[in-house]
Amino acid sequence: MAGQDKKPKTLGLNVLLVCDKLQEPTALGRAARALLADLQTHDIHATISLTAADAQDEVESDPHLQAIILDWDLHQDSGHTHAKTLLKAIRARNAKVPVFLLAERNDAAHVPAEVMSEADGFIWLLEDSMEFISSRILAAMRRYRQLLLPPMFGALTKFADEAEYSWHTPGHTGGSAFLRSPAGRMFYDYFGEKLLRADLSISVADLGSLLDHTGPIGAAERYAAHVFGSDRSYFVTNGTSTANRVVMTASVARGEIVLADRNAHKSIEHGLALTGARPAYLLPYRNHLGMIGPIPPASLAKDAIAHNLAISRLTAGSDDKPVLAIVTNSTYDGLCYNAARVEELLSPSVDKILFDEAWFGHARFNTLYHNHYAMRGEASEANRTGPSVFATQSTHKLLAALSQASMVHLRERRAKIEHVRFNESLMMHASTSPNYAIIASTDISSAMMDGAGGQLLTSEAIAEAVSFRQTMARLQAEFAARGDWFFGVWQPDMVRDGATTLPFIDAPAEMLAEQQSCWALEPDAAWHGFSGLEPGYCMLDPIKVTLTTPGMARSGKLEDRGIPAPLLNHYLAAHGITPEKTANFSILFLFSIGVTKGKWGSLVNALLDFKRDYDANTPLIRALPQLAALYPAAYGAMGLKDLGTAMFAAMKLTAYPERLQEAYNFLPQPEMIPAEAHDRLIRGEGGMASLSALAGGVAATAIVPYPPGIPLLMPGENFGAIDGPVLRYLSALEDFDKRFPGFAHDTHGVEPSEAGYQALRY
Ligand SMILES: *Cc1c(COP(=O)(O)O)cnc(C)c1O
Repeated sequence: MAGQDKKPKTLGLNVLLVCDKLQEPTALGRAARALLADLQTHDIHATISLTAADAQDEVESDPHLQAIILDWDLHQDSGHTHAKTLLKAIRARNAKVPVFLLAERNDAAHVPAEVMSEADGFIWLLEDSMEFISSRILAAMRRYRQLLLPPMFGALTKFADEAEYSWHTPGHTGGSAFLRSPAGRMFYDYFGEKLLRADLSISVADLGSLLDHTGPIGAAERYAAHVFGSDRSYFVTNGTSTANRVVMTASVARGEIVLADRNAHKSIEHGLALTGARPAYLLPYRNHLGMIGPIPPASLAKDAIAHNLAISRLTAGSDDKPVLAIVTNSTYDGLCYNAARVEELLSPSVDKILFDEAWFGHARFNTLYHNHYAMRGEASEANRTGPSVFATQSTHKLLAALSQASMVHLRERRAKIEHVRFNESLMMHASTSPNYAIIASTDISSAMMDGAGGQLLTSEAIAEAVSFRQTMARLQAEFAARGDWFFGVWQPDMVRDGATTLPFIDAPAEMLAEQQSCWALEPDAAWHGFSGLEPGYCMLDPIKVTLTTPGMARSGKLEDRGIPAPLLNHYLAAHGITPEKTANFSILFLFSIGVTKGKWGSLVNALLDFKRDYDANTPLIRALPQLAALYPAAYGAMGLKDLGTAMFAAMKLTAYPERLQEAYNFLPQPEMIPAEAHDRLIRGEGGMASLSALAGGVAATAIVPYPPGIPLLMPGENFGAIDGPVLRYLSALEDFDKRFPGFAHDTHGVEPSEAGYQALRY
């Protein structure tokens, strides 16, 4: 029934009535029908379920339900198992939605206490008046809606719905300015009145201030602190890019030393330039696939850090202690550190740690990630002896929030982080006109992750990722048994359950979804390709799925035959599938909480299609028509396999995948701090030079190949010799790009030109 019912998809009044007697010619059946009619007169839309199974589906798929009326005597089973099971299922998803039990008064004495405590009340269908029942339900729904709305979103909807005329910014005044021009009208119609009415400004005192943390916005930040487990949380409406710069300017004074993960986002480089810090870098591992692994535990130890500082020209000879360490957790590819262990290792060297958790806002809400994130346990119980810790999270990346929604969470331990001082840095980077829809969406993400919602939503995403991973691994095994190729998944071959070890394919899905040990990077396991790990130091986040294409051996050497991943990426794009990131032999897919059940089925189909077209060498005019049309001279006569073979041969010839490895496995020579490189940039020093003329020069800007999006050179570092790792890699890449139009690599800081690659040098 539920499926046939056309439900209003607005935040109207929706109830679910679960009763199998609705169509019966009995007193109960008549009363239930009368209730239904009465609800309608109160504009309450009722979805009807005649069976427990249907009700279960409905509860799982419809978050609009604001009350559930459940027949205690469902399917007339004497133990009330159906009703009890359903009640449990409801509560597992939602602790707050009102649930009324439809019962006869003389049954009430036999309802067990646990059921009483989980339900919100009884409805005596044969005794109470319909009007009385409906108004009780209505009141419960109203209370529930109030409970649902987190502080800022609640205040925003109230204000936007009630306010009449605005005399303040934004100048479109609730959208009305757009109505005055045809193009403006189209914009208004597209986004709708609500978004524009809710686009308010800091002049609206009722909503509080993001800069002063007052009113409903301040309350929303305190609510987020409670949900995300921090001492204090700050909303940032310009992404974690800004959140990182805020934390850095709040922690580092001019000339102070920062320990920075070399696997860092661009915003960290900007933070270094802004603060005038002297950086010392922590170099992570890379594996055969070019994936950036964790920083080895040995490099975080006290002596290793002292040594690191002693040998760098920027820090040698100084007794200064680093003031901040920055660690990217998780990495782009989904590697997450045991954050407790990282804090312990870094504790003797530094008093503040910034965990860049741009990709990891979901970690706290699933027990699978136990200990692998910064805001562990409850803030009130936290031990205050270690380094103080910041976590910056792009709420928009893996939770549900509008782009640019980000938060800074902090735990104050050994080092003081006073609000008044910290807030000066926050204001330095914040706009005085923040976007209220972004703030409201940040607030909503707290409400979504609060209570049962967090574990439930993250578990669903993990379960989807697990079934995709197992399906792919099974397909690969089937093809391999026939001596045929297929895509691989970067994941353990074997998993451990207590004393027994079993193949990943055979592991029960629940075990993979719940046991952290299944995802641990065991120091002696071959699949991950990283050395020097400790047991329990690092795990793979299952929701970040890396598929591999044939061609790269675990030894880091190219095999005899291979299929470059950029070719698969083009093919998938032509099929409307956009992965998160593509490297030479791997493609990353994200399973965020927005993933719909079985969405990955079409991905598997597209992968099988690729295999069929590849093996059949389907002409590119059919397999990749856009590419063939854009570059007829290069690709017009080729088949899919011809192109893959030619690309792979060119990879072998130019050896750029191996050169990339070399280039990332050493730290370049720093000549000046990033701030000085930036000063020279704006003074107009230096000039563009081709690769051969870069030798011995100093990089004016960062050189960042995508992927992986990690700086090869930071501003102020030396390009090295013409046959050194950096320039050898760039020239191999230049060579490859010339051969394959449409597949050119994107390297920030390097400009392609007629004469070849160029970069700015001092
Ligand atoms: C994306 C990202 C950021 C920046 O976050 P935005 O919200 O896009 O500004 C910072 N750090 C890391 C590691 C990232 O991947």
